[in-house]
Amino acid sequence: MKLLSEPALLSKGAYLQIPVKITLLDEAIIRSNEPEEVLTFKYNDLGNRFIIPWRKIKGKLRRLVLEKQRGLNIESQCALKDDLCMKCPTCFLFGGTGETSSAKVSYNILSRIYGETFISEKEVGDITPYTANAVREQDLTTGQALMSILTVPKETVFRGVVTLKDPTLEMVAVVVDNIKRLSRIGARSVEWGRVQTEIEGYHLSDREDLSIYLDFQNKTKIESKVKKDLKELLSGQNIPSVDEAYKTLDQQVKGLINSLAGGS
Ligand SMILES: [Zn+2]
Repeated sequence: MKLLSEPALLSKGAYLQIPVKITLLDEAIIRSNEPEEVLTFKYNDLGNRFIIPWRKIKGKLRRLVLEKQRGLNIESQCALKDDLCMKCPTCFLFGGTGETSSAKVSYNILSRIYGETFISEKEVGDITPYTANAVREQDLTTGQALMSILTVPKETVFRGVVTLKDPTLEMVAVVVDNIKRLSRIGARSVEWGRVQTEIEGYHLSDREDLSIYLDFQNKTKIESKVKKDLKELLSGQNIPSVDEAYKTLDQQVKGLINSLAGGS
């Protein structure tokens, strides 16, 4: 299996799987009056675990990829949720629906980034209740109401697998760089939820055969399958800088979209 030389519209059945480890440096909120990002779930085999739903991680990652893209002045008006441009590297990687975007195009883009629920390494132990004064936004005064939130202990480790479908060198460079920039999880993330995100390896295959759920059940051990260093996978190819990767991918994506629209 090799990386694709150019991005493709139709699937070529290549999957780069990237196991990712997220360690909480602060507590993260699991229950509050606001939308939670970390939850608990009772598995038959694994017992009660903290989990982070994939849609939360995908949402964070998409924001990071888009933010960095804006910094490079590529389609800087492209924005979630209704203002997707449908022709930039971020839209190509994460997908979008043409009709509902303000670009009003007739095509949809399927996401090339897949994932799974991130699961805590250990079973749920203590959950700390934390009571704070609710703050009124208008004048920043406190004391109107008490708000109770529950937090996940710091140093909790979550693991999961991120999958990039039909990857090119440039797509890998963009995704890998931004996974490493993921530094916060949890609601009200200004105050809470600092995390460290590490990539544990790379596995290129014609199927999605890695899953942290199977690893935790000792069915498919991820460690036995992955290459630790991306360079081992690339056999001599040079990894472009992230900035170069964005620019090349942008040109390639616009070429594909043009061919889709029947232009030259
Ligand atoms: Zn876009």
